[in-house]
Amino acid sequence: MKPSFHPRLVNEPFSDPGLFIPFLFERRALLFDLGDLSALSARDLLKVSHVFVTHTHMDHFVGFDTLLRLLLGREKEIHLFGPSNFIQKVEAKLSAYTWNLIESYDNTFSITVAEIRGEKGVIQSYSSRNRFKPAGAQRQIPFKGNLLSEQSFSVDAVLLDHKIDCFGLSLKENFSINIIKEGLKGLKLPVGPWLRAFKKALHEGRDPAQKFRVTWQDRDRVTKEKYFPLGELKERIARISPGQKITYITDIIGTPENMEKAVNLALDSNHLFIEAPFLDKERDVARTKYHLTAREAGLIAARARAKELTLFHFSPRYFGREKELIQEAMAAFQSGS
Ligand SMILES: [Zn+2]
Repeated sequence: MKPSFHPRLVNEPFSDPGLFIPFLFERRALLFDLGDLSALSARDLLKVSHVFVTHTHMDHFVGFDTLLRLLLGREKEIHLFGPSNFIQKVEAKLSAYTWNLIESYDNTFSITVAEIRGEKGVIQSYSSRNRFKPAGAQRQIPFKGNLLSEQSFSVDAVLLDHKIDCFGLSLKENFSINIIKEGLKGLKLPVGPWLRAFKKALHEGRDPAQKFRVTWQDRDRVTKEKYFPLGELKERIARISPGQKITYITDIIGTPENMEKAVNLALDSNHLFIEAPFLDKERDVARTKYHLTAREAGLIAARARAKELTLFHFSPRYFGREKELIQEAMAAFQSGS
């Protein structure tokens, strides 16, 4: 199985949290959290279409300026999502700068912000054409756990307790496509870049009756092509299986209620990225700071039946001792206790 998403932590686990999720089939990416982004290239950041900010503590939001600086002057629309007070925080960032010259720029950079408050969401847009003043009235939307839903994937969130609301985030691919080699042989088709376009067409849910062009170069570099109805080609060469699920949990207190919410969000994840800032023997410190212990992180992973576990957001007090955090979390993950 080849997943459509290849998530990776933006920084090493002692630095600011963040998950960069590029798409395999297009020049696009999602970003969970906006901490220090200097480890991402401009090329990577330009792929980002949607950013999900767990909460606006500085280590999760200081990268807003980096993104703004890069995108300003470009023809680009970006979508931001965050919990309570997020719109106010974004507006405070935007109002920190002077925008008297940007109206004359050739390109328009626009920002759409969605803030989730309990079971409701509020959406507000901003444009460089209008000096990033709020464009029109705020729109209300209901919130039942889903932040974004597209043909090939969705992003869900749950509000967790960090003394303030903090998003737990989950990305779910709707399905995954495996290519059957015998099917290709049967149709006398070679593997090649066209398979990428084929998978993209399926992920986008295109009409099965639509003609799909398979093209390749033969040994003499002569371009060959064949046309198939997309649905027929899918029957012959593709096997559809459940898509992968990626969950990202950080900055939450390890109360039973919070942990249960986190487990429900992360249930059956292929890959769980979760904070492990403190050792369990320093649980009192973790509680005071509204963070998990490594053991609690491992327990959430075990109860959620996560297949793979990646830990991050280590407290600097464990610098050089990160193995202790990892061992504690992995022991709880493997034993479930
Ligand atoms: Zn925090």
